[in-house]
Amino acid sequence: MRAVVYRGPNDLRLETVPVPRIGPHELLVKVAICGVCPTDIKKIHYGTVPPPRIFGHETAGTIVRRGARVRAFKTGERVALHHHVPCLECHACRHHAFAQCAQYKRTGITAGFEPAGGGYAEFVRVMPFVLPGVVRIPARNDFLEGAMLEPVNTVLKAVKRLALLRGDVVLVAGQGPIGLMFTRLLALEGMHVLATDLLQTRLRLARKLGAKWIWKASGDPTNAEGLQKLVSRITRKRGLDAAVLAVPSDAVLRQAQMLVRGAGQVLLFSHTRRGDVAATDLATICVDEKDLIGSYSADFRLQNEVARLVFSRKLDVRRLITHQFPLEQTAAAVELAAHPTTQSLKVVVSADIQTA
Ligand SMILES: [Zn+2]
Ligand SMILES: [Zn+2]
Repeated sequence: MRAVVYRGPNDLRLETVPVPRIGPHELLVKVAICGVCPTDIKKIHYGTVPPPRIFGHETAGTIVRRGARVRAFKTGERVALHHHVPCLECHACRHHAFAQCAQYKRTGITAGFEPAGGGYAEFVRVMPFVLPGVVRIPARNDFLEGAMLEPVNTVLKAVKRLALLRGDVVLVAGQGPIGLMFTRLLALEGMHVLATDLLQTRLRLARKLGAKWIWKASGDPTNAEGLQKLVSRITRKRGLDAAVLAVPSDAVLRQAQMLVRGAGQVLLFSHTRRGDVAATDLATICVDEKDLIGSYSADFRLQNEVARLVFSRKLDVRRLITHQFPLEQTAAAVELAAHPTTQSLKVVVSADIQTA
C-alpha cells in the first residue's frame, strides 16, 4: 500500500509498505480522510520523535477486515478512530486525568513502524485497547465529519475545564480551526464570546459561528488599549470570566492575565512546546486568584457528546475544512497547515482522491 513515511525532520516520503496484518482482536480500516494536526506538524518540523513513523491520527474510514474475535464491529462499517484510549482504572484515570494515563499515552493505531497514528496511509491497524474509541459514522454524515471527532473532543474537554455560568464573557484568542471550534462550542453553551485574530476572514467566520464580538488583533500586543477598552465596556468593567489561548503567544498570555477578572481563568491550549518560559506576575494568581490552566488531548468520556455535536451539525465542522490533499501530497498539506493563508483553515489528506 502507499504510505507517507516520516524519515527525519521535514522529510516525508511516499513509500510502498506492507498492508498491516491484524490479530484476532483487531480491525483493519481503509483510510478515507485524515486531518493534519498541529501536534504532528511539530513532530515533523522539530524531529522530536525518532523516525521512521507514519503519522496522522484524525482518521476516518471503512472497516475492511476484522479479527476473528471482534464482535462489536462489522466489515463495511464507516468509522472514526481514536488513537488514544485510557484504561479507566489507573491512578491518573481515577482522577479523570486521562491524558496522563500510561495506556492513554500509547498509540493504538498504526500503518507500520513505531505506532504513530498511521492515517497518512491507505490502511491502518486498530489495536484492541483502542477499540472502545471506534465510533460509527451515521449514513447521512461524511468521512470529513468523522475525522474531526478527535480534535473536537480536545476542544470540548478544554471547555469543560472552565468554570463558567451561562452568559459569561469569554475571550477566544486565535480563530484557526481550533479557535473557531472553541468559539462555536462556547456559544452553544450559552457564553458570550469575544473572538480575536489577525485575519479578517477568520473573524467573519467566527461571527457566523456565534462570536458576539470580534476584534482584529494588530500583532503588536504593546498596543492593546483598544481591546482593553472593549473588554471593559462589554463586561461593565468587571473583566473577562475566562480567556482561551488558541495561539502560542506569550504576549497574548500576559494580556489575557490582565483582562480576566479576579478568580477568572486563563486556559492555554497551544503552548505545547517544551521549554517555553514566560514571565508572569504571580500575584495575579495568588492574590487575584486568576487560574492559569492548560488542557491537552481528548477526554474519552465525552465521546458520545462530541459525536452528537458533530453529527447533528450543531457544530458543522465541514465549514472549517478548506483543503483536501491527495495522500501523495501530504508534505504539501503539512506545509499549508503549518503556514496558513487567509483562505485556509483545516487541512486534510485523503487516500481516496487522486492527483489531478
Ligand atoms: Zn490531533
Ligand atoms: Zn489509566
